[in-house]
Amino acid sequence: MTRESWSTQAAQLCIEGRAFIDGKLSDAHDSATFACTSPIDGRMLAQVARCGEEEVNQAVRAARRCFESGVWRDLEPRARKSVLLRWAELVVQQADEIALLETLDTGKPIADTTNVDIPSAAYCISWFAEAIDKVGGEVAPTSTHLLGLVTREPVGVVAAVVPWNFPALIAIWKCAPALACGNSVVLKPSEKSPLSAIRLAQLAIEAGLPPGALNVVPGFGDTGQALATHMDVDCIAFTGSTAVGRKIARYAAESNLKRAWLELGGKSPQIVLPDCPDLDRAARTVAHAVFYNTGQMCTAGSRLLVHRDIKGEFVERVLAAAQGYAPGNPLSPDTRMGSLIDASQVDRVLSYIQQGRDEATLLTGGLRALNGSGGQYIEPTVFDCPRADIALVNEEIFGPVLSVVTFDSLDEAVALANDTVYGLAASVWSADLSTAHETARRLRAGTVWVNCYEETDNMNFPFGGFKESGNGRDNSLHALEKYTELKSTIVKLR
Ligand code: NAP
Ligand code: MG
Repeated sequence: MTRESWSTQAAQLCIEGRAFIDGKLSDAHDSATFACTSPIDGRMLAQVARCGEEEVNQAVRAARRCFESGVWRDLEPRARKSVLLRWAELVVQQADEIALLETLDTGKPIADTTNVDIPSAAYCISWFAEAIDKVGGEVAPTSTHLLGLVTREPVGVVAAVVPWNFPALIAIWKCAPALACGNSVVLKPSEKSPLSAIRLAQLAIEAGLPPGALNVVPGFGDTGQALATHMDVDCIAFTGSTAVGRKIARYAAESNLKRAWLELGGKSPQIVLPDCPDLDRAARTVAHAVFYNTGQMCTAGSRLLVHRDIKGEFVERVLAAAQGYAPGNPLSPDTRMGSLIDASQVDRVLSYIQQGRDEATLLTGGLRALNGSGGQYIEPTVFDCPRADIALVNEEIFGPVLSVVTFDSLDEAVALANDTVYGLAASVWSADLSTAHETARRLRAGTVWVNCYEETDNMNFPFGGFKESGNGRDNSLHALEKYTELKSTIVKLR
């Protein structure tokens, strides 16, 4: 495919903007909509149903009805598995169309949505489908006059509130395990990227998921709030900013104490020790870790902590690698870095860059790019930071901005790495595996990469954060813990 052929396909795309409630597409009760535009060039993509409290109530009622009826929950596990596998298959069949929708909606490069986002979403559905008829409960160790069973039951109605940086993938990270366990789900995509969620829900029903099992209510923060405060939602699975995560925890506490699982922000360090095995590869990886997805990643390796002895030669290599991320049109298959999500995100990133010009040394980038395109682009940007107590080093920017901090000893590197309210991810580069392991242990982060970054065997590792990066874990069998209640059944024998 070429940029021209993707553009032609984009022009022919029939984009659905209605909500999806109880197995049917529907407008908001008051016909309210919001405009969904593309950050690639500002073009209007669709008018999308703006769901409010009324639609949230409808969706929760449909989800509850489905759950209580048992049509999904009480299916035998392998029957649920085959519906979910069919859903994964439909996503694979429609992958190009969904990837294109995601690229138009978010400005992600088409090479990423076709190779990463959508195939990974399909894989996640099939992974949890395959898991669900293989995980059982426990028989507790008891005295001989008792039989004790420890089982897991679905928690009920799950609300999933997700961000715009990986719209389809993060939605599926919540929906696949929740549905596999037998729950019903109400999904609220970000108002900045609502399109792929609607399409995915349509395919789920086509695959045989019963009406009400998966609902999509596009809207703004108030839509998420209506879900988080709802008295008949049993669990809220949230991915987004730490600021909104804090509100979600409060809404849960002040309503029905629903289970609140929070996957939040980060300011992840990449530590490069002087014995770093391959400076070229390390530098390319460091650049990728912060410029991939235009730096709009919760795990973005946005702090480079580098030993003074190798700083000069290493930073030079990082700057060379950064040149490979010059923003391009996301519909070109060779574009590695696309647009940011919207104008407000560009303003936010540029204000950090502006402040950074006073407090640090700009090494490359710092400007808007592709001016005249009508889109939202920023150059890959690197700052050399003289101190660690500045905003560039402490705050999540969520854009293509790398902050370099120099250290003189391993202890200092570990202290710098942990000196953050976040704890999502970290990396350490060293040729000495003992040093690498010892350092990994000392890092307060949910994921530590050694001599790599963002390496993952897809679903096999729990993903989530320490500290203010949140509490729950997506992916791996541990994700099932979020969507189930533990039950002890104790039988007194004769
Ligand atoms: P956000 O502003 O917190 O929004 C996340 C979701 O919450 C959106 O659907 C948003 O709706 C909704 N929302 C906003 N206010 C709400 C409220 N008062 N009550 C309930 N829901 C509300 O985050 P974002 O800007 O979309 O995403 C970027 C953030 O996500 C970054 O901080 C990033 O680190 C984090 N993130 C974390 C992970 C992880 O796994 N740890 C993964 C990806 C991203 P609207 O957008 O429609 O207003
Ligand atoms: Mg959009």
